[in-house]
Amino acid sequence: MNTVVTQTEDAGAAASAGPTDALGTSAAQARSAVLEELIRKDPGRFRVLTGDRPTGRLHLGHFFGTLHNRVRLQELGVELFVVIADYQVLTDRDVADNLLQHVEELVLDYLAIGVDPARSTIFTHGAVPALNQLMLPFLSLVSVSELNRNPTVKDEISHSRQSAVSGLMFTYPVHQAADILFCKANLVPVGQDQLPHLELTRTVARRFNDRYGAGSAVFPQPDALLSSAPLLLGTDGTKMSKSRNNAITLAATADETARLVKGAKTDSERHISYDPATRPEVSSLLLLAALCQGRSPEQVAADIGSAGAAALKKVVTESVNEYLAPIRARRAEYGRDRAHLRAVLSEGNERARAVADATLAEVRAAMNTCY
Ligand code: ATP
Ligand code: MG
Repeated sequence: MNTVVTQTEDAGAAASAGPTDALGTSAAQARSAVLEELIRKDPGRFRVLTGDRPTGRLHLGHFFGTLHNRVRLQELGVELFVVIADYQVLTDRDVADNLLQHVEELVLDYLAIGVDPARSTIFTHGAVPALNQLMLPFLSLVSVSELNRNPTVKDEISHSRQSAVSGLMFTYPVHQAADILFCKANLVPVGQDQLPHLELTRTVARRFNDRYGAGSAVFPQPDALLSSAPLLLGTDGTKMSKSRNNAITLAATADETARLVKGAKTDSERHISYDPATRPEVSSLLLLAALCQGRSPEQVAADIGSAGAAALKKVVTESVNEYLAPIRARRAEYGRDRAHLRAVLSEGNERARAVADATLAEVRAAMNTCY
């Protein structure tokens, strides 16, 4: 468990690879530092909601972007809800292939990294009708032009497998507001791509309170918690994503990991240096090795010096494989009992339904729609 919850402060101080400020990342990083202090003092005042789409296996971008933080917060005593966003699979494709298998694989990844179902709630939002009903009043609180401006939705549309943009794709950040607000979460550990969505969730909460709260806050305005790797790049140099065929998964074997890292995009400069702005691919690889080693990316770069990209990739492969070995072993262990995975989910769904029913009742009372 220790390998999972320790992370270098040095790497934490380092910027992530890639252009970061377009989405307001520096402001969110500064706010995250303040939040860390508040969490340390009083973890009991926070409730976390975070999650993933069941579109494939979780990868290193997830791990260092958000999963690591989830387990760390759980260990600090923060209440944790993890949503498997099954409806959102249909935002950028027509059919949700192998859904059940992907859902089980996510549960497996969560258990392997240390999410404890006795303390934390893992659920699929498709199994929680009252959560989804919140989307209707929430949709009335946002304008079409606000939805149109969302940079992450634009990016996802450009990578989507559909020729036309569906209404679900266009409105999924509002659905995400329902995911977060159904349990009144006030903290959301996410990667950089989620910042515009968090802003929209805050807007929805604020407007709902203003319109229906009669002077009191029905919903909190949740904060994003960024990690030290809010945008880990994939092997092609763009955001590591389940759907872009550029990811190194937690479940990959050591050999697969070596092959994938070997094929990762770098640049032609032989001297290895950490400079996210001008050398995003090399810097993201350095950050990855640094996070695994518990050191700073600058230190890792200094060790490699002028030995070139092949030496960098060797260091990355060894660091990742060593770091993930215990997680991979636990994953294999949990994978032998599929019935247990289903039981974890069914218990989590039941807990989430009770919370969502209570929130919807409150919302209906606030809106004067109890008949
Ligand atoms: P998909 O391609 O299907 O959208 P994804 O890899 O983008 O998959 P999501 O399920 O959309 O994964 O994201 C789950 C969480 O992981 C979000 O909080 C997101 O910000 C975070 N995340 C995903 N990819 C990265 C990454 N490359 N670096 C940091 N965080 C990431
Ligand atoms: Mg995504």
